[in-house]
Amino acid sequence: MKTLVFATNNKHKLQEVSEMLNNTVQLKSLAEMGLAGDIPETADSLRGNALQKAQWVWHRCGLDCFADDTGLEVDALGGAPGVFSARYAGDQCSFDDNINKLLAALDGCANRRACFRTVVCLLEGGAPRFFEGRVDGVILSERCSRGGFGYDPVFMPDRFAVSFAEMPPEVKNLISHRGRAVARLAQYLKSS
Ligand code: IMP
Repeated sequence: MKTLVFATNNKHKLQEVSEMLNNTVQLKSLAEMGLAGDIPETADSLRGNALQKAQWVWHRCGLDCFADDTGLEVDALGGAPGVFSARYAGDQCSFDDNINKLLAALDGCANRRACFRTVVCLLEGGAPRFFEGRVDGVILSERCSRGGFGYDPVFMPDRFAVSFAEMPPEVKNLISHRGRAVARLAQYLKSS
């Protein structure tokens, strides 16, 4: 089985993605590789950031690896917060701060359409290959449940009557932006 390093320090994401890639690859975390520190993500696009994060790992251990980058794109905000989703409310902000800022920005706004987009960058022998996933939905006017992470409590995907935060992980993984991007990665890995 192929071994791949996943360039993330986010334990929640590591768990989510390892469940999705189960039996396809042997996934190694940064901690298992002895890699510590903040991975830079200073590009101005999801694709650029995914490439930058994967290259950070590649340059340190020379192993095939992948990274992902996700943005929440809100129609009424011209696609914001987008690539700045993690630090929408400031550099050291919490998930709660981001949600508060988003709800305030959309206060009284009828158009609540938004999507999550994920780009995964796989580096094999240093050569990049990209996989994308997207889920469309709406931003709720208030939090529904405290579960999940990030914007989960205020994002309701189309064709569902609950927020991401209220969904069992296996359901979220099937329909989510990251789930779809990682499914495409898994499909490629199985066929290559
Ligand atoms: P990242 O590129 O995966 O680190 O995502 C950037 C930011 O988007 C995160 O800090 C979260 O605020 C948000 N985000 C990413 N994925 C999700 C998700 O599945 N649910 C809710 N928010 C997410």
